[in-house]
This record gives sequence, structure tokens and C-alpha cells, in this order.
Amino acid sequence: MEEALEAGVTPILAVGMEQASSERALELREKYPAALRVAVGLHPSEIPSLEAEELRAELAFVEQTLRDADALGEVGLDYRDAVDEEQRQRQRQALRQQLEWAEHERKPLSMHCRRAEHEIVDLATQFVQRTALGVNLHWFTHSEKLAHVCGEKGIYISPGPSILSSEPQASVARSIVPGYLLVETDSPVEFGGEPARPAWARKVAQALADLRGESLESLAQRLQENVERYLRST
Ligand SMILES: [Zn+2]
Repeated sequence: MEEALEAGVTPILAVGMEQASSERALELREKYPAALRVAVGLHPSEIPSLEAEELRAELAFVEQTLRDADALGEVGLDYRDAVDEEQRQRQRQALRQQLEWAEHERKPLSMHCRRAEHEIVDLATQFVQRTALGVNLHWFTHSEKLAHVCGEKGIYISPGPSILSSEPQASVARSIVPGYLLVETDSPVEFGGEPARPAWARKVAQALADLRGESLESLAQRLQENVERYLRST
């Protein structure tokens, strides 16, 4: 957090994977109330290994804490980690349930997606249409075409450090609609052999500014407006 603030990275959305990490994020917000926003949620990749009772407990935790959080996340679908139709069904069911709570509590979403791109874009579109709340598809570098569709539907996308080394992902990031662009680091996921750090958002923003042919200052200004609009709950 200190390093990120020093780099001018704020506000930061800290997302939960399950109860333990959601609780840590909520605790951290007490220390950085101005700079940190928190999403609580049950990540789809956690679901296949959970027993039915554990799954119920995890979801109950989300239901109980969502009101105090700033957003719901990460939630979504991960069909790489759900190996069969039964597991995919459990992910869909958990996602549907969490989206209902988010709608009820008026919370924006941070969504995760792997090998379920069209399904997630459809769900995100419906959520935006029903609620007018913010939805971000994190690290969504599927295709330039879907990046355009997201912009038309009012869905945010946050590219991360992968654009520093992947030409195809950089090219998708370049085509994200300006008013729906955010940045992320997905810390502490590893890039180039080391865990990403939140302060890296600055170099991701710099790379985006270069790709899009604008100054870091003008991009940073827009990112600031976008993130405030995305996290707004009314
Ligand atoms: Zn994710």
C-alpha cells in the first residue's frame, strides 16, 4: 500500500477470493480508508474443491459482509478450473446468487472469466441494464471485438501487467473504449517470475498511454474519472 501510494496509485480495489482473503481486505481498509476499496466475493476457481457445506458457508459470508464492502468480487466463471458440467453448474449457481445480492445491496462488480467469455459478457450486460451499476471484467484480453462490445454495453475492462510483454494482449488493451478503461495488476499473481505489486499500476498505465498515443497525465485523469464512476453505488 505504501509503495503504491508513493507511485500515485489510488484508489485501489482489493478483491477477495473467499472468506479469508475478503476478511484481510476489509481489515486493511481500516488502515487505509481513503485509498482502499474492498470487494468481497467467492471466486469461481475456489468452488470445485469446496464441499456442499463449505460452499454454503462461503456464500453466507458474502451475503453477510457485502453490505459493508464497496463491491462484489472476484466472482465469475472459470471453465478451465471447472472440469465438468456439474462443476460449471455450481459456479453458475454461486454466481447467480452473488449477483442477486449485489443488485439488492447496490454494489458494483469485479468479474473474473476464463473460457466463458461470451457467457460473462451476457451476464455483465444484463446486470448493467438492470442496475446501472459498474461492472469490471478484470484482465479481460479476449479479443478486440469483445473489447468494443463491452464499451457499447457500458462494461469496464482493466488490463494488467500482461500488456507489458504480450503483443496480442496489448493490442486488445489499445482498443478498449476510453470511457470504460481501468488498470489493474492482479497482485500478487506472478509476471515475469515475480509477484505483481499494486504500484505496478503506474507502469501499466504508462504502457497504455504509449500504446494509445497519449500522455500519462491525460490517461491518468481519465482513469481517475472512470474508477470513480465504476465504484459509484447510486
Ligand atoms: Zn481473476
